[in-house]
Amino acid sequence: MIIMRRVFAVTALVVFAAVTAAAQDGTTVIHTSKLIDGKGAAMSNVDITVVNGQITRVGPAGAVAKGTREIDLRGKTVLPGLIDVHSHLTWYFNRQGRYHQGGRNPNDNDTPIESILAAAANAYATLMAGFTTVQSPGSPEDADLRDWITTQGLPGPRILTSLSPLQGGSPDTLRALVRRRKAAGADLIKIFASASIRDGGKQTLTDEQLAAACSEATAQGLRTIVHAHSAESVRATVNAGCNQVEHGIFVTQAELDLMAQKNVVFDPQCSLVFHNYLDNRAKYDGIGNYNAEGFAAMERAIPLAAQDIRMALATKGLKIAYGTDAVAGAHGRNGEDLICRVNDAGEPPMHAIMSATSVNAASLRLADKIGAIAPGMEADIIAMDGDPMTDITAVRRVSFVMKGGKVFRNDGK
Ligand SMILES: [Zn+2]
Repeated sequence: MIIMRRVFAVTALVVFAAVTAAAQDGTTVIHTSKLIDGKGAAMSNVDITVVNGQITRVGPAGAVAKGTREIDLRGKTVLPGLIDVHSHLTWYFNRQGRYHQGGRNPNDNDTPIESILAAAANAYATLMAGFTTVQSPGSPEDADLRDWITTQGLPGPRILTSLSPLQGGSPDTLRALVRRRKAAGADLIKIFASASIRDGGKQTLTDEQLAAACSEATAQGLRTIVHAHSAESVRATVNAGCNQVEHGIFVTQAELDLMAQKNVVFDPQCSLVFHNYLDNRAKYDGIGNYNAEGFAAMERAIPLAAQDIRMALATKGLKIAYGTDAVAGAHGRNGEDLICRVNDAGEPPMHAIMSATSVNAASLRLADKIGAIAPGMEADIIAMDGDPMTDITAVRRVSFVMKGGKVFRNDGK
């Protein structure tokens, strides 16, 4: 019986794959007047050829064979699909206008179906904003959302998820949890090494716990991204052999240098997460650590955040990812930290865009598939009105989105 079911499942998958390939068959040529390739180059008047969901050519505009599908993006700026390495798609405001708490503490009567519909809406908003890949750190519902987007045509970004994060336990327990997450389909492991910014950000896992979790993940072939705010929790994360530091609001130059030296990626937030909480205060207020003290801590973090990014940018060899920590209220506004990083932290626009494309792709170990417009890459291609090189707020005006060769948005000229 089990064998029968498996045969059926495999057959269904093969049939579906054939249908998808047929839908993408043929060649599409995209005409551009201004293209930013995600790896640091800007080009003028090039055509992008897409075959079966992949980019096969990026080169000077030329004659197009009769019958070829053409998309005209001239007059816009064309970029690779953007990537947000820290987005919580399952976080949403319920229909009473309050933050929906999931897990064991539901504060409303929302059913799992209502919650996953809310997550699907967040995924759609994220894709429409030009983000064709996100990393979620993470929730158990992510797996279904990820798989429905990949195989069932649900519109949304590619999702990589940690499933539920690790927050404690003995070293042996943590090692076992890492293996359990892998078996459940996690793409990476998310670990909390410190308290929330609203609770002061002090280290919460010991050096031994961190070393156990990160070394087991490495042995299992999984990346580790670690929530760490205090300087000591960031140091412990780096020294434990973990791959990426999230947040790090209280880092000093010493931790930034250490990250650069140990090839650990830094994922700081610039403003969206803080402003989103403050702007939506009434929707969060009174739930958990969303209280007067918590909101005051987030307000104090705003100038620190821009200062951290300035320091990080000046740190030789440090890889800086782009992750917004998008929560309820922020989905579809994932580009806001690009504006903050350029306008408030002084980052050159090309550098910021590379962070949200090729640098992020490398942090996800997907540099050969996404994060650039080049032959051999997945056709994740977006366009925006205006030029982000001269006005970074253009990222708010995404008007074309292609993911894997499929057009999800095309507002025209
Ligand atoms: Zn987060």
